[in-house]
Amino acid sequence: MLIVMNHNAGKKQIDAVIKAVEKMGLHAAPIPGSERTAIGVLGNKGYVDDSCIRNLAGVQEVIHVSKPYKLVSRDFHPRATIVRVSGVEIGEGRRPVIIAGPCAVESEEQIMKTARAVKAAGADMLRGGAFKPRTGPHTFQGLREEGLKLLAAASRETGLPVVTEVMSPDNVGLVARYADVLQVGARNMQNFDLLRELGTIRKPVLLKRGLSATIEEFLAAAEYILAGGNGSVILCERGIRTFETATRNTLDLSVVPLIKELSHLPVTVDPSHATGKRSLVPFMTKAALVAGADGILLEVHPEPDKALSDGAQSLNLAGFARLMDDIKRLLQFLGH
Ligand code: PEP
Ligand code: MN
Repeated sequence: MLIVMNHNAGKKQIDAVIKAVEKMGLHAAPIPGSERTAIGVLGNKGYVDDSCIRNLAGVQEVIHVSKPYKLVSRDFHPRATIVRVSGVEIGEGRRPVIIAGPCAVESEEQIMKTARAVKAAGADMLRGGAFKPRTGPHTFQGLREEGLKLLAAASRETGLPVVTEVMSPDNVGLVARYADVLQVGARNMQNFDLLRELGTIRKPVLLKRGLSATIEEFLAAAEYILAGGNGSVILCERGIRTFETATRNTLDLSVVPLIKELSHLPVTVDPSHATGKRSLVPFMTKAALVAGADGILLEVHPEPDKALSDGAQSLNLAGFARLMDDIKRLLQFLGH
């Protein structure tokens, strides 16, 4: 529920509304705005009878929010959230950030070579999986803590903050010791215990859209993290399952402007997993930036043909550098 106050409502009237909400056993979260104050009501399990609030002095309107997310919504938080990652800012109005690196950390040589190259080409952050959610158990599953250590070393040398995936609630503490941003992969978007655990930490989370998640389910998953007390969530559209098999997934680009209407959280796009095909990645990267993405995730490998995972969608180092030249020109055109 959202209580909208009159533009001339004073502190006394706002405090009286908060008190009335708390008397109902609910939590009141005031949202000061430039025109008027709104008060978000949290903690209700179902419909709330608003009769004792509607008639209080200074109340203009009571809006019942039926969506499964509140903290994530623009209604509750009109101003865009800017997520800060060691000096890099992600969110509306900021220059879109480029996050690049291999699907998986495979060796010291591979991650160092990639980190140096993406840094030289102008990337803002380094990505790389140490815990890999693979479809079958007989493929490379990641270097686990050894991979985290290699990422941290690459980060120390290049100064690039690191994004890496965490798959289980038990490993959140471990991954948070090494990573600057913790990624929740598409397959774990509805791992609610993991989301709850990520709500308790104070590091940003990059939440990928589930393979067949609706936008409402995607935002409700983010709500778990915010409800736990961690407001630094970056959303990532990485393509969804459709009837089409010519591409690995179908990139649902319209969600970028749509989520910006519905939510205040930054929205990024991963054209690598969305297409599964290296030749398509530059085109969809540029399309995503035009659609208003706050950041792009790109898989880059020094020798994509020898990659232990996702080689077909990985750019090589020269391909990434060429794409970065295009991105820089496009961003200039877009006014960044
Ligand atoms: C990845 O980023 O390498 C990955 C596994 O992505 P997704 O969860 O989107 O498939
Ligand atoms: Mn991958």
